[in-house]
Amino acid sequence: MSSDIQDKNKTYAPLIESQNFVLSERKKGIIFPKTISFDDRNKLHEDLDSMGYGYEDGKWMQKTPHQWGADLTLNRQGYKCYRCDISFAPPNPIAWKLRQIESRRSGAGFHSSKQFADYKNMAAYCEPCYENETSTHPKTIRFKKVKLEHYEKWMEANKWEMLHGSFTFSTLVKRALDELTDSEFFDARIDDILMENDNYKSQAASFLELLEMFNSREDDFDFAAKVRNFFQNYEPLIRPFQSDEQIDSMTTDNESLRNYLKQTRDLDLKYLIKNKLSGYKRYEEQFPEFKE
Ligand SMILES: [Zn+2]
Repeated sequence: MSSDIQDKNKTYAPLIESQNFVLSERKKGIIFPKTISFDDRNKLHEDLDSMGYGYEDGKWMQKTPHQWGADLTLNRQGYKCYRCDISFAPPNPIAWKLRQIESRRSGAGFHSSKQFADYKNMAAYCEPCYENETSTHPKTIRFKKVKLEHYEKWMEANKWEMLHGSFTFSTLVKRALDELTDSEFFDARIDDILMENDNYKSQAASFLELLEMFNSREDDFDFAAKVRNFFQNYEPLIRPFQSDEQIDSMTTDNESLRNYLKQTRDLDLKYLIKNKLSGYKRYEEQFPEFKE
């Protein structure tokens, strides 16, 4: 009953939608916390919300980068603000926000696939710098009054209104600027699709590898063994785990950060190996201390 009252204030996604979304994200290699409320509609919705996903137009989507993307960006910046160099790092952590700093085509950002790689076009900002960067800059254009009158007269003389509706020159320009903004939006959309395409290509490569195993199998047991081996030793292109040496070399002057990065990595590794997720053998070999 109480959940019905809540529903009036907030629309929760249907349970099955949310569950399917979790399953499809897991397939991509996203690790969800064990505490996620898989069987409770409202709670699961809130959990997904809090993890940076949003439910829009009947569809779950990623709204903010995964922690992995954030970690990679923060590592690259040495845990400092991209704009003003204020430090985010422990022992006095301050709040930060991520935003896209380049077009996705020139290097990709966070999107629904491959978000574990650092494409170097995300940046982390302290809150004041973030607010400053994200205040909107509407596109404008200025004409001298005398020219504007000239254009208006020309449009009138050429019966522009009859052909194209009741445009004045100003509304025509405004429409053109809107189109320009739209085309930027579509450019970003195209970038997304290109990224998705890359992801499909890499899936297709895995499929071909499996097909080759099938075609060259000695018998069904041979094939099954090869497939099992493939997934145990699978190397997801999108999940780099850093070795102690790599972390040390990045964090020479900051011990608390070094410890924090190692702890986070260790937790992820333990989870992956314990649950025998794709590629767990590969990570066991690379990090034998986590072998159970
Ligand atoms: Zn700043």
